Amino acid sequence: MRAMGISQIRMILSGVTLNTILSSIFSVFTFALLFYYDIRLAGVAAVLVALAILVMSSLGYLQVRYERKVLEISNNISGLMLQLIGGITKYSPELIIMGAAEGIVTGSFIFFALMFVVSLVFGRAFCGWVCPVAGLQEAFFPACSRKAKGGKGDWIKYFIWVPWISIIVLMVLRAGGLHTIDAFYQTKGGISVTDTHSYIVLYVVLALFTILALTAGKRAVCHYLCWVAPFMVIGTKLRNLFGWPALHMAASPNSCTNCKKCSENCPMSLDVNKLVQKSSMRHSECILCGTCADVCPNKVISYSIRPGK
Ligand code: SF4
Ligand code: SF4
Repeated sequence: MRAMGISQIRMILSGVTLNTILSSIFSVFTFALLFYYDIRLAGVAAVLVALAILVMSSLGYLQVRYERKVLEISNNISGLMLQLIGGITKYSPELIIMGAAEGIVTGSFIFFALMFVVSLVFGRAFCGWVCPVAGLQEAFFPACSRKAKGGKGDWIKYFIWVPWISIIVLMVLRAGGLHTIDAFYQTKGGISVTDTHSYIVLYVVLALFTILALTAGKRAVCHYLCWVAPFMVIGTKLRNLFGWPALHMAASPNSCTNCKKCSENCPMSLDVNKLVQKSSMRHSECILCGTCADVCPNKVISYSIRPGK
């Protein structure tokens, strides 16, 4: 944000300010000449200049107030984006372990727990609509539009997730349980990317995500690596087991012409057509992105919150 502030100052200084300074210098000379040629006309000009200064100052003041508001909003949005990306380290698998070793419930712990609870009602809508890593991967769709291997490939992430969760549990047990809540643990006022170490971690993780997105197919990170996804998969499976009302995709197979456009376009490589035929769209790998509903020419698929298994 500081870098943006400097570039904003440069823009302002190099544009309006330079113009104003130059034209002011030349105006002073012209004004002095006017006094030399006709003192009465110079008096009238002086009154007009005073009026112009008054009007311009008032308008300038109003403009500065307006610009301040615009800058504030723009910086808030940029700050939020930085925090969303910075969240990769804040909600890192490393930070939660460090906190667990000291018996501390960290921000990352709260985040993962929240994701689980949210998925009980909204399934994996976070993956489809909110996650910044998903946004990063989707930006690479034009460069790598092939499908990632779903099915058994989706189990790869559990080879990371299960040992990681086991370490956290072990650390909590060693610390004698969780006894403190510190949502800003190891952050500076909630900002996590503040030192060389966290920047290195952030860029290594971002590079890994980028490589996967470019080589292993659409949403490869969601398929094979994401350590947040299993929390939501478990929440979705629980919801499916008990069948309480929750957001899911639903289908009316009678109108389906088996064109398979839904399966071709599903970013999670699901055989959507098969799910439609079974009238069972509550798949735990479905991220509720709505692509299948968008591409279906017969409007077979839609969102639903009806109870059911
Ligand atoms: S089944 Fe439909 S909503 Fe679910 S991930 Fe695939 S395209 Fe998105
Ligand atoms: S896109 Fe629609 S019509 Fe085509 S197979 Fe899928 S559900 Fe059926």
